[in-house]
Amino acid sequence: MSPLDRYKDLKALLKKKGFSLTKPRQNVFDLLQNQGPQTTQVLIKRAEGQIDRATVYRTLELFERLGIVHRLNIGWKYKYELSDIFLAHHHHFYCSNCGKSYDLSANAMLETMINSLASKEGYSPRGHQLEIYGLCPACQGQLT
Ligand SMILES: [Zn+2]
Ligand SMILES: [Zn+2]
Repeated sequence: MSPLDRYKDLKALLKKKGFSLTKPRQNVFDLLQNQGPQTTQVLIKRAEGQIDRATVYRTLELFERLGIVHRLNIGWKYKYELSDIFLAHHHHFYCSNCGKSYDLSANAMLETMINSLASKEGYSPRGHQLEIYGLCPACQGQLT
């Protein structure tokens, strides 16, 4: 997806819910693009000089409510990442030693299994998050 198409999608989504694409909203969206999961603190730091703290908080809250971002519980804190609308669906591996999170490659069979697990019990799944934790390759080497 080109950056311009992404803005178009973002604008359309906001408009549908009665919001407009303001400059700060576009800026926060930019900070989330082509990035792995980030904490609010990191986003605030990166927004410094452009958008104030309170606006970053408010925008993230709105984005979460509208399904533009996912809030991921990674380790003991939560991080934000663009939702499946803007980023291909994927799962994360979280290293409990260095705290980094890594994207895992997509697996269609796993997706089918997760959905059928819920459907079989009468639920209609709309999405899911899956985090795997442990040690990343670099930390495995360090600790042995
Ligand atoms: Zn690690
Ligand atoms: Zn999945």
